[in-house]
Amino acid sequence: MGWYCRIVFTLFLFFLSCTPINQNKNISIKEQIKSKIAIEPVQILPPEIKKEIVESNKNVRVGLMENEDKIIFSFSGSYSIYNDEKLIFSKKMSTDSWKVYFTTEKYICLENISTGEKIAVDQKVVFKPEQIASYVTLGKIKSGKGWHWENTRSRSYKGNIEFIKFNNKITVVNDVGIEQYLYGVVPSEMSALSPFEALKAQAVLARTNVFSDLGKKYKNKPYSLYSDVYSQVYTGISKTHERANKAVDETRGIILENNGKPIQALFHSVCGGHLESNDIIWSGNKLEYLPSKPDKINGLEKYNDLSNESLFKKWIDSRPDAYCNLADKNVDKALDYAKKYYRWTKKYSSKKLEQIIKNKTGKNIGKLKDIKILKRGKSGKAISVSVVGSNSTLTINKELNIRKQLSDPPLYSANFYVVKSGGDFIFKGAGFGHGTGMCQIGACGMASKGKDFREILYFYFPNTKLSNIDK
Ligand SMILES: [Zn+2]
Repeated sequence: MGWYCRIVFTLFLFFLSCTPINQNKNISIKEQIKSKIAIEPVQILPPEIKKEIVESNKNVRVGLMENEDKIIFSFSGSYSIYNDEKLIFSKKMSTDSWKVYFTTEKYICLENISTGEKIAVDQKVVFKPEQIASYVTLGKIKSGKGWHWENTRSRSYKGNIEFIKFNNKITVVNDVGIEQYLYGVVPSEMSALSPFEALKAQAVLARTNVFSDLGKKYKNKPYSLYSDVYSQVYTGISKTHERANKAVDETRGIILENNGKPIQALFHSVCGGHLESNDIIWSGNKLEYLPSKPDKINGLEKYNDLSNESLFKKWIDSRPDAYCNLADKNVDKALDYAKKYYRWTKKYSSKKLEQIIKNKTGKNIGKLKDIKILKRGKSGKAISVSVVGSNSTLTINKELNIRKQLSDPPLYSANFYVVKSGGDFIFKGAGFGHGTGMCQIGACGMASKGKDFREILYFYFPNTKLSNIDK
């Protein structure tokens, strides 16, 4: 039988049923995935394989969906499709809708929805693009669960797409070139209409995070970064923009390091005028490149320490001229949305807030009497709050807990003080996000004042050095 007949015959067998073929039960899926993603020593390999590994080392594995039973998708352009390592379609093109699903018998099935053709899969289905313009569109990707931006939409991705059997469900991984990945991160994390030097700073941070501890967080998963806010937001080619692509290209290979190690390249939307150090927001050692200080090189020194209550209130009410106060900055109108985060108020009736606190903490404190700030960080962030009720008093610690348990959706930040007025509780606050590392709107403000991406990065991350990993 010639190779063509063999492929046709094999495909015929695949189509007959969805019975799993060649299941390797002795090796756990984790071990198999680990062995496949491990980078082997380069020196002992023949040149063509070495080239492949060097190339793959320039790739990043990004989790797009997980714990799914069924995924609807389509693809554009030509793909070779593999069942693990075995080719099942060569240079396939299709305008049909497809689905991958996890069967009750616990294996994966690939199905062409239009024709009903089914193919059983061992551990993973891999779509490898055969054309530069090829992309896969996945239906219904969830993002931002429980936050203001929660949504579900279809998204398109270049690079390899893998549907993997993992924990008896399906995980979708995009194995993609780092720079292609960054094209999808930069405009997802920052408006592509931001000043160009701010976009370049964002590109350096996004690249740094591929190599930093953030990029190694998911040791027991078949990916190294997830596409959501818990790594950095990556939306594939759905939002790509030529300005963001250019920012990635012009900073190619550049990362930010401290003592020879890629830094934890943290960033947030709007600090509200004062940055916070990492140890206040999370536990762990204070890092020398993530200090607490006003979001301005000179002029706001008197506000260096906002842990004092009366100084903090003055700070909130006076709207000082920090970099992220866009009032006097010449930036694109696309950034106007950020003005509402520099200073904000959130009002709840005491009844509504009692209900939220009960739902979020599971504790019934009775009638809400007062909310007292017990401790603030230097940026003024509340890190310990006392909630006084008629039945009991509750203490909430940590910035994120405070934001989540005193509001639904969570408060924009923990930089707030509380005013009681009639039957209402009013939060008067500043900023959006955790406030550590680069203030993205502040970076835009700096760029609008003529600072370049190096000055922006060295201001937000003192004691660091830019270096080029491609050289
Ligand atoms: Zn700021």
